[in-house]
Amino acid sequence: MKYALVTGGSRGIGRAVCLKLAEAGWNVIINYRSGREAADETLRLVREAGGDGELLPFDVANAEAIETALAQWETNHPDDYIAVLVNNAGIRRDNLMVFMQNEDWHSVMDTTVNGFFYTTRRLLKNMITHRDGRIVNMASLSGLKGMPGQTNYSAAKAALIGATKALAAEVAPRGVTVNAVAPGFISTDMTAELPEAELKKMVPMRRFGKPEEVAALVAFLVSPDAAYITGQAISINGGLY
Ligand code: NAP
Repeated sequence: MKYALVTGGSRGIGRAVCLKLAEAGWNVIINYRSGREAADETLRLVREAGGDGELLPFDVANAEAIETALAQWETNHPDDYIAVLVNNAGIRRDNLMVFMQNEDWHSVMDTTVNGFFYTTRRLLKNMITHRDGRIVNMASLSGLKGMPGQTNYSAAKAALIGATKALAAEVAPRGVTVNAVAPGFISTDMTAELPEAELKKMVPMRRFGKPEEVAALVAFLVSPDAAYITGQAISINGGLY
């Protein structure tokens, strides 16, 4: 059995990644924080498409919760290990810097940066031991370009890109690749309240991207064809920079 863990796999881009990886033969471990119904629906869709998976709820910002969940998973799967990790869970709490509350700053950093650190550190040892692992981090155009109203989010995603490059160099000799994906505007719950009609005029392709388009890139990065790609932040943004 080949196992792939997708954090924030219950909705949006994460759900599309779960479906795409299941299609490619991965047994998907669908992580979420609190939205059980959406996670159940993702698992139903995975099975409907002929794949299989399981739910593994935990808050990526909580190191203890991660340890408990993954230790339990290992007890239930004594002969297996998780070879693919997609660090996709993310939130945004936009505000102009002068109005930004400590909570807005810390919750975004905790989810994106600490979530990456805790989850990746926990799974990395097994990948290194098996000399086979793929890590994909969901960054953002915001982390490359810097977006007004998103100093917390841009900082977190830029940190994730820096961590991707550092870790990629660290573990490349051990058969583990680490890449980041940097989407522009993608149609999900996260962007549902944005003025799409206005924003899409800024996008050279004049539309928001689809979660499935991001999922296809993630599936490529974890496939054998991408074995020589590591330490990259790959944009998927309809030409918007
Ligand atoms: P979304 O529709 O809001 O879904 C977010 C997912 O993350 C949900 O499954 C949610 O689960 C989970 N999640 C949030 N906080 C979590 C935590 N602390 N622990 C575990 N799971 C958590 O978001 P999306 O648009 O698909 O975005 C997915 C990723 O892509 C994020 O990292 C986002 O920053 C990035 N991204 C999105 C866009 C875009 O335009 N949509 C663009 C660039 C980058 P619960 O429902 O259980 O909380």
